[in-house]
Amino acid sequence: MTVPALSHLLAPLDLGFTTLSNRVLMGSMHTGLEEMPGGAARLAKFYRVRAEGGVGLIVTGGISPNRAGCLMKGAARLDDAHEIPHHRLICDEVHAGGGKIALQILHAGRYAAHAEAVAPSAIRAPISPITPRALETDEIERTVADYARCARLARDAGYDGVEIMGSEGYLINQFIAPRSNHREDGWGGSFERRIRFPLAIIRAVRAAVGADFILIFRLSMLDLVEEGSEWAEIVALAKQVELAGATLINTGIGWHEARIPTIATLVPGGAFAWVTAKLKPEVTIPLIATNRINDPAQAERIIKAGGADMVSMARPFLADPALVRKAARGRSTEINTCIACNQACLDHVFQGHMASCLVNPYACRETALVAHRTAIVKSIAVVGAGPAGLACAVTLAERGHLVTLFDQQGEIGGQFNLAKKIPGKEVFAETLRYFASQLAKFAVTLRLGRTVVADDVRAFDHVVLATGITPRRPPIPGIDHASVAGYVEVIEGRVTAGDRVAIIGAGGIGFDVAEFLTHAPDSDYLAEWGIDRQMRHRGGLIPAVPAAGKRAVTLLQRKNSKVGEGLGKTTGWAKRALLQQRGVSMLAGVAYEKIDDGGLHIRLGEETRLLAVDTIVICAGQEPRRDLQNALASMPLSLIGGADQAGELDAKRAILQATELGLTL
Ligand code: FAD
Ligand code: NAP
Ligand code: SF4
Repeated sequence: MTVPALSHLLAPLDLGFTTLSNRVLMGSMHTGLEEMPGGAARLAKFYRVRAEGGVGLIVTGGISPNRAGCLMKGAARLDDAHEIPHHRLICDEVHAGGGKIALQILHAGRYAAHAEAVAPSAIRAPISPITPRALETDEIERTVADYARCARLARDAGYDGVEIMGSEGYLINQFIAPRSNHREDGWGGSFERRIRFPLAIIRAVRAAVGADFILIFRLSMLDLVEEGSEWAEIVALAKQVELAGATLINTGIGWHEARIPTIATLVPGGAFAWVTAKLKPEVTIPLIATNRINDPAQAERIIKAGGADMVSMARPFLADPALVRKAARGRSTEINTCIACNQACLDHVFQGHMASCLVNPYACRETALVAHRTAIVKSIAVVGAGPAGLACAVTLAERGHLVTLFDQQGEIGGQFNLAKKIPGKEVFAETLRYFASQLAKFAVTLRLGRTVVADDVRAFDHVVLATGITPRRPPIPGIDHASVAGYVEVIEGRVTAGDRVAIIGAGGIGFDVAEFLTHAPDSDYLAEWGIDRQMRHRGGLIPAVPAAGKRAVTLLQRKNSKVGEGLGKTTGWAKRALLQQRGVSMLAGVAYEKIDDGGLHIRLGEETRLLAVDTIVICAGQEPRRDLQNALASMPLSLIGGADQAGELDAKRAILQATELGLTL
């Protein structure tokens, strides 16, 4: 099979705009717009904005080649020509924006959340309640043909290529690994028979679309599950994928059922680039590196070092559609960097909601949130330069208002200045760097270092109170004891916790404080999670070596629910697992009786217990801070962020609410 030349995709490496554009791929992301009524037009706009932002090649969210392969009932599939107009709209917009787009073909296999789920063998995935039906031999052949039909329809719709999803534990991966393929016919058993399915698909797709069509195969290079592939098999499969007619090989890291975080904030940037680099000498077609690459400079370093030919970034394009153009034009300080929180993207998608982005609420709302220039220019005071105040000030100024932003601190950022001190959350500082660049760009007047009183802002046409929160101090007898500290003092380093610590409150901040207190500075992410860099073991797993935390920490809550249940759907489990590895004990259903020289006295049901601790850190939520509200009641006034509502406030809600207000004043 002749593989098409990639000269149109891969320019020589000179690090100019064209090069960067052609070397960065926007990785596949399901947005939820795929299934939404009227979603095609919104999706087309979403992709067009990103094509205009300079990315060379976009890969769509996963689209199933048939009904059984849909991730859930009613999920998007491309198996009939009547779907073509929907896809043509998307392709036309991307092409008008100067980009290229490939459709990702994804068959969920045993991850399908519906009764028609099929797999190589009837083995339930640990993360699914559904046991799939084992495919009959003739159904396997029909499924191969369905992939080819899907690719041909994609070509008819105007796509420039397809990506065949062969990783993350989906159907193709399920065929490849002994973990999920227990067949005894021609599609299972030996390695050669287990890889027959992906190779048959690549050959059938190539035959269906012809030579001049991009065919990316997403190959699982590190399964991170027991009985996953071993390295020799991965290399052999990659060589066969090349021979079968793939144009590019994209990297897949970790099955969805793996108990190792691969893209969360706590994963170091570029943590898996070494895997792609290890495969590089084994194949001649270009390889794409992925996972936790959120910075074009890092992408260039990986490519320059010869570890990959291209780099795939997905969430960074939610955070900033123009990141390639900004980097290429030397305006990297203006990039709105993805902080890998998953709060508005993957957490939403896994709960069946539309994806967006915590740091960029315009993502997937491109047609709904539009910054129009204001007809009447007002002078507006924004009090508080936390995430809410920053987002509001920038939006107002972008629209042409005269904005003054105040904060009592000597720097912008509010609570993000605490968040960025949590190990693994250092990247939150990038959000503040981005906002600082936008304040300068839109000429916001900044007044720092003085607590605003009502008279400071009376002369403005409008005041926005973004004054945030005050940490709650629960009325526990002995709360003023010397052993008690607030989370702010602990994180800022004004109080050093002792060796035995109790944390009152196990919300997001309680967990972050536990991380802060138990983190070992020399900890190694790969060792801590048991990832075998030498790839000597199946699935790339070795026993985890927990970093020894120097403190004994107990995390407490009054609720009877599982501690940490309220944390992010896609990240909470990893935070819990990490702290448990370090010996942090977690107690639910606690009543706080008193604090004295002995420590913290609690009741657990009928049992009373003394936690003999040196330090008690209060992380018991917050109350809104609105001291200025009454004094300014006669003025046009708006409240946003924590000042408006402190309960369950996170930066996602604060920034969205602030942006929406900024677009309407
Ligand atoms: P704030 O960030 O509290 O900002 C309010 C600002 O107003 C402050 O800078 C204050 O100095 C200023 N101010 C108040 N009164 C006055 C006055 N009279 N004059 C002048 N200035 C004044 N959220 C997430 O979504 N994800 C996370 O992972 C996350 N991690 C966190 C980790 C930690 C350790 C902490 C503490 C918080 C975290 N949060 C996280 C929460 C998030 O930071 C808050 O939801 C967000 O900062 C709220 O924004 P805000 O602008 O409303 O308030
Ligand atoms: P939170 O998530 O609401 O947690 C507050 C904790 O305090 C709960 O465990 C609560 O549990 C306890 N509590 C409440 N009232 C109490 C009282 N009177 N006495 C004793 N305990 C009490 O708030 P947070 O941890 O302060 O976080 C603030 C916001 O920042 C949250 O909305 C969170 O989403 C966000 N954040 C997110 C992350 C993240 O990683 N996504 C990280 C940090 C912060 P009980 O009532 O059961 O005791
Ligand atoms: Fe990145 Fe968080 Fe935005 Fe998702 S929500 S794209 S992880 S910043």
